[in-house]
Amino acid sequence: MHPLIHITGLCKSYGAIQVLHGIDLSVKAGEVVVVIGPSGSGKSTLIRCINLLEEYQGGVVLVDGIAVQRGAGLAQVRAEVGMVFQSFNLFPHLTVQDNVALGPLRVKHLSKEVSHRTAQELLARVGMADHAHKFPAQLSGGQQQRVAIARALAMEPKVILFDEPTSALDPEMVGEVLDVMQALAKSGVTMVVVTHEMGFARRVADRVIFMDAGRIVEQASPEPFFNAPQEPRTQAFLKAIL
Ligand code: ADP
Ligand code: MG
Repeated sequence: MHPLIHITGLCKSYGAIQVLHGIDLSVKAGEVVVVIGPSGSGKSTLIRCINLLEEYQGGVVLVDGIAVQRGAGLAQVRAEVGMVFQSFNLFPHLTVQDNVALGPLRVKHLSKEVSHRTAQELLARVGMADHAHKFPAQLSGGQQQRVAIARALAMEPKVILFDEPTSALDPEMVGEVLDVMQALAKSGVTMVVVTHEMGFARRVADRVIFMDAGRIVEQASPEPFFNAPQEPRTQAFLKAIL
């Protein structure tokens, strides 16, 4: 079976400045990969290339065997790759329920009844069933992020990419979002998570990847990664943050 995400030799520049230098990364179905590294190391750029939120200049990105590039397959790739951002990005003029139901209605062309029933189930899954008729502004940051996760799930993606999903939250709300993510991971959702939450990485990741200066420096399962990092740059980074 081919990996769900298969990236080889990915190179990306912004103008004249190259920020990804030949990334190779494969992610299997059901795997949880946590990406860590200093600010500016290319973590966001890497995951944004997986659904072509960023164009790239070199290498190959395949999702479920389909090339991620401009053209016919892109809509399908986008539907298969969910994304959860630091800044929630809910539609402010739509209720929680409508935020979650919108993708299935518009993109999957499901009936109003089916998409709203699915939205209810997903809101229950993230502990937000009682807030379905509120607007995003009436929710805390942690609640908004849980809705954003439900909205991503509504498209039944093959993988969900998370870009620092708890970095914009007040500290007391970080745990509720990480708990939801941990439950997703347990239920077999394939996830690539950029985060600074090392406890989450230790508990939930199948594999931890350390990036620096546009390259993957080191990767391992959490136990060896945190207890016996091999590369000096990884050691220095962990020493500074732990
Ligand atoms: P990280 O997520 O690890 O903090 P990023 O992927 O956001 O890193 O950024 C990698 C590099 O690319 C940084 O040097 C950053 O300044 C640069 N960069 C990111 N986005 C843009 C952009 N839209 N235009 C120009 N440079 C960018
Ligand atoms: Mg980033």
